[in-house]
Amino acid sequence: MELDLGPEIAQFRGEMRDWIAGHAPDGLAELADWNRSVVTGGYGYGQRARAMASPPYQRWEQELAEARLICPQWPEEFGGRSLDAVRMAVFNEELHRAGVPRVIRGMGESLVGPSVIVHGTAEQRAHFLPRIISGEDVYCQGFSEPGTGSDLAGLQTRGEVDGDEIIISGQKLWTSGAARANMMFVLCRTDPAAEKHAGISYVLINFTDPAVSYQPVRQMSGAAEFAQDFFDGVRAPLFNVIGGLNNGWRVAMTTLGYERGGSATVLHLAYEREFWELADTARKRGSNTDPIVRQQLAWAYSMVQIMRFSGLRTLAGLAEGRQPGPEASVNKLFWSEYHKRLGEIAIGIEGADALLRPDGDGYPTTAWQNVFLSSRAGTIYSGTSEIQRNIIAERAIGLPKEPRVVV
Ligand SMILES: Cc1cc2nc3c(=O)[nH]c(=O)nc-3n(C[C@H](O)[C@H](O)[C@H](O)COP(=O)(O)OP(=O)(O)OC[C@H]3O[C@@H](n4cnc5c(N)ncnc54)[C@H](O)[C@@H]3O)c2cc1C
Repeated sequence: MELDLGPEIAQFRGEMRDWIAGHAPDGLAELADWNRSVVTGGYGYGQRARAMASPPYQRWEQELAEARLICPQWPEEFGGRSLDAVRMAVFNEELHRAGVPRVIRGMGESLVGPSVIVHGTAEQRAHFLPRIISGEDVYCQGFSEPGTGSDLAGLQTRGEVDGDEIIISGQKLWTSGAARANMMFVLCRTDPAAEKHAGISYVLINFTDPAVSYQPVRQMSGAAEFAQDFFDGVRAPLFNVIGGLNNGWRVAMTTLGYERGGSATVLHLAYEREFWELADTARKRGSNTDPIVRQQLAWAYSMVQIMRFSGLRTLAGLAEGRQPGPEASVNKLFWSEYHKRLGEIAIGIEGADALLRPDGDGYPTTAWQNVFLSSRAGTIYSGTSEIQRNIIAERAIGLPKEPRVVV
């Protein structure tokens, strides 16, 4: 089912379809299974990384850059195409249909860029934004610390102003993609005397600076996709403070305003595909006739369909000019809890075999072991399920605010 989004959007869809057909290099679609989601916190980056280093991918990157289709949701004056959420959804759908990747710039695109666009000066925008689009600067996120995750405002990393520089000392934890990054956006405390949400600054630092060191943290999936980082007096020019000193909390709260809902109608596709793979596994193992397994699979299929219709509802709302509100928390809670349960069902279907890891170097796991182990991270990162439930309770349902402990 496709929503009728009006003639303008239909025309845009046609343009994108033709453009992709005319510009996607031969062999790109076959390089990798681009429509399969890579489970965060699990294995799966290896094959993708090899495909991304290949000539067809690099030509594709060049084509997209020339057409301003990298960070296309950013305003035109900053190098994008000002695509609204509906057009972003259509663009994502058309890439998916063609089986080719969207070239994304990770946290630079979704988090740093929007913050610089909203809170940066003209000079900061001119300096930092093109480097994100070109891929020269790859960011990782330095928010969580050993003692502060959900309670982010309690962070202790210090930033001291020294002339026209800021010196950062402290420790961060759970930094995804640290090994691929050359830049980090860091929250640090620049005014320890101020109230907890005040006195925080948002600074872009050179992550390859000799005063930065990091160690990979291995997860239970066996992957080491994130790291703990140590800052031993890292210097950055004050130019790299976004939004002004002690104003970092506001900057950090700038969310994905440029892409809200853009993936709403493609989110379920990877889960749907994974579902059919599980149904196939059940068939091969002969458990597709087991009434309990059938019930579990029916449940999973229903959840994926709910995700699909929920995406269509978000898109219909956006087309009518309504911005998504706390339903972003409902969606996050929904897919992450679903995926955790799906991993458990998959392991049940695999039975005793699920207890055996395959042979090989490192810590290899089967695809379903990987889903089972790494899906558990989904209910933690980007705000845990409990935090999402608090947001839904307070902001969507209007229940009384959670009592705060005053220390
Ligand atoms: C795969 C992965 C990637 C990550 N990547 C990054 C990254 O790149 N950069 C970064 O900065 N961080 C990253 N994180 C860290 C992530 O943001 C934190 O783990 C998360 O915010 C939770 O913080 P915490 O681990 O300190 O747990 P805590 O905040 O200590 O929470 C512990 C438990 O208490 C519950 N809890 C806490 N507060 C409340 C409350 N008010 N009400 C009810 N229950 C509550 C939590 O839900 C949780 O179950 C990543 C985490 C994972 C798993």
